[in-house]
Amino acid sequence: MKSIAIDGPAGAGKSTLARRLAGRLGYLYVDTGAIYRTVALCAIEAGADPADPAQVIPLLEGLDLQMSYGSDGVQHMYLSGRDVSEDIRVHAVSQCASLAAAIPEVRAFLLEYQRRLAEEQNVVMDGRDIGTVVLPKADVKIFLTASARERARRRLRELEQRGQAADFETVLRDIEQRDHLDRTRAAAPLRQAEDAVLLDTSELDLEGSLNALLEIVKGKVSS
Ligand code: C5P
Repeated sequence: MKSIAIDGPAGAGKSTLARRLAGRLGYLYVDTGAIYRTVALCAIEAGADPADPAQVIPLLEGLDLQMSYGSDGVQHMYLSGRDVSEDIRVHAVSQCASLAAAIPEVRAFLLEYQRRLAEEQNVVMDGRDIGTVVLPKADVKIFLTASARERARRRLRELEQRGQAADFETVLRDIEQRDHLDRTRAAAPLRQAEDAVLLDTSELDLEGSLNALLEIVKGKVSS
């Protein structure tokens, strides 16, 4: 099986680009952030503090988390049989996901799940620790980034398209806060793998970024 690992901070364009890349190659796109978000939603709905291991860890045992792909290839997340793909995108869940993701037991619990997906099919997997921890032997590793201000601008546009009002400074602060949490946590922090190719998309549009990605994977995997 072939695998492409794409890591990077929030709002760098990972999911859009990884999905497009997977489409081009005929690979499965796995959005691991959605998995952490589903765990966070579970904690919120249970009334647990997502930052408190003592409240989150007991929930893992009974966690009924499932993933499936629609006919359009879109990844759907299910919590206890309920499609929560939309619910996990709200702002409160983003922050809680970063908190729950810092708990080593949560990461350990999801590790095998993610690895199994990559054993069963060719994948483009995006997240924070894919190239460093989940798939250290990935065929291609990419660290995708952009300046915090550019990432905030993109996130703001995305929120506006979804009809969710927000202002630039708040979005920027949230992004910086999440970056800080993801980079400084002890368990599998966000960092570029030594053998990853750095791609900064600050000055690139979507097509330009996709072409740059295709250039990186060219010759390393075939479609
Ligand atoms: O990618 P997304 O922004 O949806 O991820 C939500 C949160 O889940 C991130 O801020 C990060 O804390 C966590 N995450 C992680 N490891 C991954 C994917 C996501 O810690 N592989």
